[in-house]
Amino acid sequence: MVQTVDRLFVHCRELVTLADGPGAGPRRGAAMQQLGVVADGAVAVHEGRIVATGPTEAIARDYRAAEELDLSDYVVLPGFVDCHTHPVFARTREVEFHLRCAGADYMAIAAAGGGILSSMRAVREVSLDELAERTLRHLWGFAAHGTTTVECKTGYGLSLADEEKSLLALQAAIGQVPLTCKRTFLGAHEFPPEYRADREAYVRLLCEQMLPRLAKLADYCDVFAEPGVFDRTQTLRILSAARAEGLRLRLHADELTPMGGAELAVELHADSADHLGRISDAGIAALAASDTVGVLLPGTIFFLGKPHYAPARRMIEAGCAIAIATDFNPGTCYTQSMPLIASIACTQMKMSAEEVITCMTINPAFSLQLDGEVGTLHPGKRADLCVLDIPSWRAIGYALGGNPVAMTIKNGNPIVANVTERDPDWFAGGADLAPR
Ligand SMILES: [Zn+2]
Repeated sequence: MVQTVDRLFVHCRELVTLADGPGAGPRRGAAMQQLGVVADGAVAVHEGRIVATGPTEAIARDYRAAEELDLSDYVVLPGFVDCHTHPVFARTREVEFHLRCAGADYMAIAAAGGGILSSMRAVREVSLDELAERTLRHLWGFAAHGTTTVECKTGYGLSLADEEKSLLALQAAIGQVPLTCKRTFLGAHEFPPEYRADREAYVRLLCEQMLPRLAKLADYCDVFAEPGVFDRTQTLRILSAARAEGLRLRLHADELTPMGGAELAVELHADSADHLGRISDAGIAALAASDTVGVLLPGTIFFLGKPHYAPARRMIEAGCAIAIATDFNPGTCYTQSMPLIASIACTQMKMSAEEVITCMTINPAFSLQLDGEVGTLHPGKRADLCVLDIPSWRAIGYALGGNPVAMTIKNGNPIVANVTERDPDWFAGGADLAPR
């Protein structure tokens, strides 16, 4: 019996379904290798959801559609899930980048009024409409690089009024872009200048005024836990207050200094512990025994020119559930490209292409409680696809710095097409030269 559906995507050179493993839950260790690759693959889509995947021959036999899109020679993955970004900002910080390239240290620039505080001044100066417009443009940048689900943090307002403006701008932007977005309140990103002399008062403001008023505009609360910023006790108070307001938790942890951030995230049952460049052995053990996802952000270490990438190999071997994300922000990682992050993860953290793909799809989806909806190409999930102009999934980190995304498909609809002339080198037979 032939079933009629809305749309068929056919003749994918490789369709990477991840459907060999479970549709939900994070993947750890050896399970991160299960890509479920279908050669000459096809996807049947109805009402925005995946109905079936398989070889084109079988799908074309069982399904008929008014619209059929031929994706010959493209590699198709689940749309990327970027689970750590800071897109609600008003101005770029290239002057600071120029200073850093000339030798200035990031923390020294921050101490001189640059860094997060310079983004704070910019957010406070612009109108809600302008901030929404900038944020919308940033969100489209993710879509242009194959991302269909994004976690978006505030954190450049740092006052009740300006964090509210940031959350409202984010909400307005989300309403105008066809992406699945989660909203994270990051009022505890830094202490604003007016509270530098009385940090305790800012923690009280966060717990007693900002969270009760703003929680309804967010899904998550996050804190930048780092010595000199929010210490362990303050972090615990803020996240406990956030949970009491019904928010789920994420945590910037152990980025520059080990302070037990990963352990704290596990203790609080946070959905993620992020950065982890300085995670301790105890932190790795705690994470491995939990469902808290370690979100690694190698683009930031690369962009800052620092040496301490998160110990991805040790974390994978210990059984931690990990993900990778862009950390897109105006200061320490100005990219919306998950393929670029894949390159850095492969080369600097020694992750395999299979692990990287798992860490860009199902694992970040789990960290956002969206693993039942996105992250693999199981039937019933959203038809979110990333169409790549590469010869094989093995090339996920290979096209260094370019944008290999030919098309981004959200809920079965192409939302971005970057299709240009194909690179003939891709199909000149390089795959046949693979070592045997
Ligand atoms: Zn961040």
